[in-house]
Order: sequence, then C-alpha cells, then structure tokens
Amino acid sequence: MVGKFVYSFSEKNIDGDASMRDLLGGKGANLAEMCHLGLPVPPGFTISTEICRYYYANNKNLPNNFHSEVKSALHKVEKIIGKKFGDHNNPLLVSVRSGARSSMPGMMDTVLNLGLNDDTVIGLAKYANNERFAYDTYRRFIQMYSDVVLGIEHYHFEECISDIKQENDIELDTELTVYHLKDLVGRFKEIVRSKHGKAFPQDSEEQLWGAIFAVFESWMSHRAIVYRKMNSIPENWGTAVNIQSMVFGNSGDASATGVLFTRNPSTGENKIYGEYLINAQGEDVVAGIRTPQVITTSHKKELELTTPSMEESMPHLSKELFAVATKLEKHYKDMQDIEFTIENSKLWMLQTRSGKRTTQAALRIAVEMVEEKMITKEEALLRIEPESLNQLLHPYLDKNFKKQVITKGLPASPGAASGIVVFSAAEAERLSGLGEKVLLVRVETSPEDIHGMYASEGILTSKGGMTSHAAVVARGMGKPCVVGAGSIKIDYDIQLMRVGDVEIKGGTHITIDGESGEVILGYVPTKSPEFSTYFIRVMEWADQIKSLTIRTNAETKHDIEAALGFNAEGIGLCRTEHMFFEPDRIVHVRNMIIAQTLQEREKALAKILPTQRSDFQMIFELMKDRPVNIRLLDMPLHEFLPYKDEEMQILSKASGIDLNTIKHRCKQLHEVNPMLGHRGARIAITYPEIYEMQSKAIFEAMISTLKKLNFMPNVEIMVPLIATENEMKILRTLVERVAQAVMSESGVVLNFKIGTMIELPRAALLSHKIAENAEYFSYGTNDLSQTTFGLSRDDSSAFIPEYIEKGIFAKDPFVELDVEGVGELIKISAERARKVKPTIKLGICGEHGGHPASVRFFNSLGFDYVSCSPYRIPIARLAAAQGSVMSKMKEQV
Ligand code: PEP
Ligand code: MG
Repeated sequence: MVGKFVYSFSEKNIDGDASMRDLLGGKGANLAEMCHLGLPVPPGFTISTEICRYYYANNKNLPNNFHSEVKSALHKVEKIIGKKFGDHNNPLLVSVRSGARSSMPGMMDTVLNLGLNDDTVIGLAKYANNERFAYDTYRRFIQMYSDVVLGIEHYHFEECISDIKQENDIELDTELTVYHLKDLVGRFKEIVRSKHGKAFPQDSEEQLWGAIFAVFESWMSHRAIVYRKMNSIPENWGTAVNIQSMVFGNSGDASATGVLFTRNPSTGENKIYGEYLINAQGEDVVAGIRTPQVITTSHKKELELTTPSMEESMPHLSKELFAVATKLEKHYKDMQDIEFTIENSKLWMLQTRSGKRTTQAALRIAVEMVEEKMITKEEALLRIEPESLNQLLHPYLDKNFKKQVITKGLPASPGAASGIVVFSAAEAERLSGLGEKVLLVRVETSPEDIHGMYASEGILTSKGGMTSHAAVVARGMGKPCVVGAGSIKIDYDIQLMRVGDVEIKGGTHITIDGESGEVILGYVPTKSPEFSTYFIRVMEWADQIKSLTIRTNAETKHDIEAALGFNAEGIGLCRTEHMFFEPDRIVHVRNMIIAQTLQEREKALAKILPTQRSDFQMIFELMKDRPVNIRLLDMPLHEFLPYKDEEMQILSKASGIDLNTIKHRCKQLHEVNPMLGHRGARIAITYPEIYEMQSKAIFEAMISTLKKLNFMPNVEIMVPLIATENEMKILRTLVERVAQAVMSESGVVLNFKIGTMIELPRAALLSHKIAENAEYFSYGTNDLSQTTFGLSRDDSSAFIPEYIEKGIFAKDPFVELDVEGVGELIKISAERARKVKPTIKLGICGEHGGHPASVRFFNSLGFDYVSCSPYRIPIARLAAAQGSVMSKMKEQV
C-alpha cells in the first residue's frame, strides 16, 4: 500500500468535511480546522484511520513507507516549535492520542509527556527552570506509559506514591519535593523492570512507536468494543492517532488546564460552562481525581463555591478563551466541548468537538440556535436523535412525598432513580440480571465500569465534577446521575457508605435526583414528566415539515388517551384479539374456539358481540374524525387456548361442555407451528361467522356513534395475514355483505374502507392482484420479517445476539427493518400495487413504525403513514420530519 498516511495539522489542503473526518478522525480533523482558523494549537500531526484498518487487515503489520512519513512529520513539528525529539537540552515532548470518526470519550488510550527519559528530564528542568515540574512530569509519564503501553496496572504506582508519602509524613501530592519525585522515578523504574521484565524504554523513538501501537490495540480493547456496540459504531472505521507537541498546564501557578462547554450540557442554557485546575494536566480534570474549580463567576455563585472562578483568577486569559469558544461555536454551528491548557500565561487549544448533551439540552440548544439564526429549523431537527426523546419520559420525584435528603452532589444527568446500593460494576450487573433495581455508588467511575453503569438505574459518585467520566457517560446513556457528593465516604472493603452519622450498607434503598443533585435515603415515588416548551417547539416544527402521518397501535382507552396526548393522527392498528384478554372475556373467546358446531360457535359469538360493539364505540368516540383501522381477528391459537386445568374447568363451567371433551378439543387444536398455523384470514375462511360478528359489531358501533354524537366515524377494516387474492376477495365480499345487511336494517349509509395487511412474501409479490380488492395496505413488518427471514418471532431472540456479535446481522431485524431484504419486498409490493391502483394508501403497523431509521425508509418510499405504540409517537414524528428534510436535501443535490 502506498499513499499518504500522515497529515500535519497545518496542511493547507485539509478541511473539516466528512471525508476528512473519516480519514483523520473527529479529533484530528478538528485540530487541523482550529489551526486554519488561526487559533493557538500546539503543532502536531495525525496518522490516518487507514493505517489502523491496514494494521488489522495485515496481521498487525504496517505499510513500508509509513515509518518515514511519521519521521518527516515529526521533523516538521520540531522545526515549528524549535525543540528536538530526544534532545537532552531542549526536548520536544508529545502527546499520543486516539481519535475515531465519532467521539468515544475515555474509551481508548492516551499517553502524555512522551519523549522523557533520564537525559531529557534534565533538559526539561533547565528549559522550564523548574526541576520539580520536570520530575513530576517524568513520573507521570512512566506511570501512564507503563499502564497504557506495557500493561502494568496503575495501582502498583499509586501504592508506591502512598508509601513515599507515608515514609516522609506527607499528605498531599503537591508536598512531594524534587528529592521525593526523583526517588519515585527510581522506584517506578524498578516496578517496570520487575513487572515487565525489561527496563523502562529510554529511547524516545521506541517510546513513540510503543504508544502508536498501543492506540491501535486500544481500538480492539474490551471497553472500546462494548462502547462501539452500545453506540452502533462500526468496527471497520478504525482510529486515527494524533501526535501533538506537549504544552504544560502543570508548570506552575500561571498554568492551568480545563474543559469548557459553550453551553450548559445538562440544561442547554446559553452560558459558558466548564471547569479548570491550576497547575495540572488535562487528565486530572477528566479523571475526576481532583475536584476542579469552575470557569465562570456566575456558575460559582450558583453552586455557592468559595474557590475562585477562572474569570477571577485569570481574567485576561478567560476573556481570550471565551472569544475562542464563541468563534468555534459559530464556526461549527453547534455547542462545543473544548479542552484547553494554559502554559505560563499562554492559552493553547487542545481539542474541540460537538459536546455530548442531555436530550433536554439538545432540544433547548437546537431551538435557541434557530432563534439566534445560527441554524435553520431543518438543521435543528436533524440535530436531535429521535431515539433520545425516550429520555424525556424519565420520571421525576413526587414533590409531595416527604423525603430524607442525606446529602447533595452535582446534578450531572437528569431524572430520578431509586434502587439498592451496590458498590461495584460487577455487582450491579449481577443483581440487575436477577431483576433488582440497583444504584451504582462509586468514589469515581472509569471506563471499566460501563457495564455496571448500564445495568444500574442511576449512578452516584463521591468525587469528580460535571465533566468527570461518570457525568459524561451517564448523560450519554440517559441515566440519572449525581457526582462529587463529597460528604459521602465509601468503604469498599466493608461495603458501606457513610454520610455524617448515617451508615448505609450495600443493599439499602436510596434515591438520587439528577436534577437537583439530592441524595435521599429510601425509596421515593416518581411522577411522569411534562414536556418543556423546547420539546413542544421541536415537535411543532417536525409536524410542519413531515409528510408521513403518525398513527398509533392501540385498542384500550388508556393507550388511546396516551397516544392522543402525543398527537396521534389516527389508529393504524387496533388488534381486536387484544380486546379479549380480560378474564370475563377470554372465556367466551375460548368457548368460540373450542366450539365444534356452527351453533355452538354462534352462541359464543353472540356473547362477544355486545362487548366488541361497545369497545368500538368507545374508540370512535375518543378518536372523533381521525381514521381508525380495525384489524379483524388474528389470533394465533396458542395465545388463547387454555393450558392449565383450572382454566379448563372455568371454561367447562361457562360452556356446559364436560372437562374431558374440552381437553380433547384442546389437543385437537394444538398446532406445532402456530405462527404459521390456523390464524389471521385463515380463521375466517373456515369460520366466516367470526368476521361476520366483528363486522356487524363495527357497523353497529358506527351507527350508535352517529346517533349519539352526530358524526360518522372514519373507519377502516383490515384483513390480516392474506396470502392470496382469493382470500381477499372472499373476505371483502363477506364484510360488504354484512354492511349491506346492517344498512338495510338501519337505513343508514355507511362509509368505510377495506384493506389488508401485507405480512407474507407471497402477498408482497402479488400485491397487484391483492390490491384489486383493497383500498389500502398496511405492512405488518413483524410477520413480514419473520416470514422473509424464516425466523420465529417468538424463539429467535435466543440466538440473534450471537448473529449480531458475529457480524452476520447488523441489527436485530425485529427492531430495525432489514431494508436490504424485507425493505426490498416492501418496495416491490408498493410499486406493483401502485401500478394497478395509483391511489392506494400505504402504511405500516409493525414495530418498525416507531424505529427512526425504519421510519425514514418508509418516508423515502412515499408512504402515507406509520403506526407505532403510543410512547414512540414523538420519536416517529421527529424521524418522519428528518426523513422529509433528508429527501429534500437529496433532491437539491
Ligand atoms: C405485524 O405482523 O407486523 C403486525 C403488526 O401484526 P402482529 O404483530 O399483531 O402480528
Ligand atoms: Mg402480524
């Protein structure tokens, strides 16, 4: 492989477009872009993601010319900065960091201060005129390099620091003198020799290559793999490697390091928000090892802090920093998460990226940026991940409940959560697997804890700030989180946390409020959320822009009311069999199923008819003039047959049929493969009286509604699981015949539509024939996925995860529509149906109707509606609007 693999930040031909981002990773592309904006960026270069891909595709080898490219890029950096790599007088030190296409905070490895050895440390001390700083930097480098590159665990070095402190009666790291630090360096090197079997590498080049390989290796680390899975990041993207000259935030009191968000990442408020630490290196802020100070004075007042804000301690530099932040936000037209360092009163920008934010913040930022004319409504809609709206459904604490607040921390991620205290990620995972609701309590979290955080209802830490690992990750996950609750003392050994006099053992119930930061003893009831004005605005814009109609799958009063609360524009699927689950109803249905003669069946049906009729009337009254699509019975027998003796006895009593006959009938009706059995339209072909009763109930309910409320309900009658045109023809005639009878009897003219579900590949392929007897199609993508893949809806969840793990399926096809296969069938079906009936209405009512990418696909086919469960309506509304925006963008190209 020949080509260009290494790009200097200052190269002219680099811009921040998508292809550059793919090549240089987010961090590399942004560093180059900041450089071109004239911002103070320490010089450096990026090794492209192609190399990482090459590395894994070629048995961990690298292309021939790659070494020389890295060398010459390093020479360029040396020239710009006037220092030399490995030089004992004035050494260039570099940071080596990963940087994938999309940010994976804390997931991969970083090495700072690379280039230090026993010689160059003397040069650094001379250059900085600060021997203590040089040796402190050297010991940090040995520690980090040994951990990341040599695989020697952190705690060996931490223990060594504790020993030295104890021996010398020292409490704080800052009290360590040059003498102690030199001693520490010696001891660290000994640890390396004993654990690694070799001396700590003194050659700067060897160090550099070690770190580059470590970054490539970290792409396949367990935590990176887990993160990618959770965030749908493909493995073949690979990571870039950024090598950048070091600037030192730990070179004295005129130096600092910090993280800044251009807006509040938790609430979205348009105020600079961030934290800094004087005389520290970047990792100290992010790792939450020291509790940082805040940047703005208003933030300091809000939190009632006493330590000075950066505005107070470094007024000129904070002005310069704010100007840079504003410039970056304007440039990227998005909220930025910025890392900076101040070295001897000079500001340096180390990174900028679009900041992770809560959904509440995302909505507010999007709306306010439209008001500020920074972005358009369309851009705003594309900025919000529809699935994240789920976070808005977070419960909050019932204010009327008397709660015992034991302490307060920082409100890092909103929502309230109750659970039993667990002190480790492993225990969180174990207990949640057993069905317990757990709350993970840690001094601080690290990427190793991701599993446990995922398994917990919420996360509480005693250390760390709003940009600590726990805070950032919990926000991304949408989990309630409180951090830095400093009055909590945790003893992992005895599984206990103390807050003043209160002792809380593992297994005790506590509650956290991610909105206020309160930590509460015991369980507190929660309430459902109300939506913010920003949410309502975004939803209004979505409704203005989308062309798909969003209906709901619902049949109960409760679900229909919830759906109307979310602006459902109709019912796309009323599953009539779901109306039978209550005990007083199911007995009649079972009676109908086991009936052996027409007479017996009609007797049972006569008992069902009045309940069906009143249910339909209730639905019509709630839905007013909105369309209501009622599906005639689709009852896989196994879901309805009685199994337990007790159920059979009840049935025997109600039907007057003796128990043995019932048992015998159940055996007769048992199907080996009920999902492909006597269900859907097939039931009505053999027992037409069932659909006759249902049609009659629908028509009579329409007439009652008309008489009571003076409007004709907007009714659609749908036949499920059609495979052939003949089934459709026969059942359409059946429904029409009943309608005629009801009309003649009542003298009322009934308007309604008849349609079918497309759930079988045969029906999809023969849509032109089926369409002749259908005014509309609704794609039942649950069954259509089942029958296209030949995968059982009920059983395949046992092995689908392995298919995903092995890369055979990108996603579970029952969650995200398989556009390539099932989608192709739908496309063919729609084309064939439209050919014979251009006005045919097309919709979807499988679970995919609430899945964002699937909704966008249906939009691209020009469908009329999607239908989903009530709580997914906001997600579908937004996804539909995104689909419209994307289609328009495509047209413009
Ligand atoms: C479907 O198959 O997609 C569908 C909506 O019907 P059900 O899930 O009731 O089989
Ligand atoms: Mg179905």
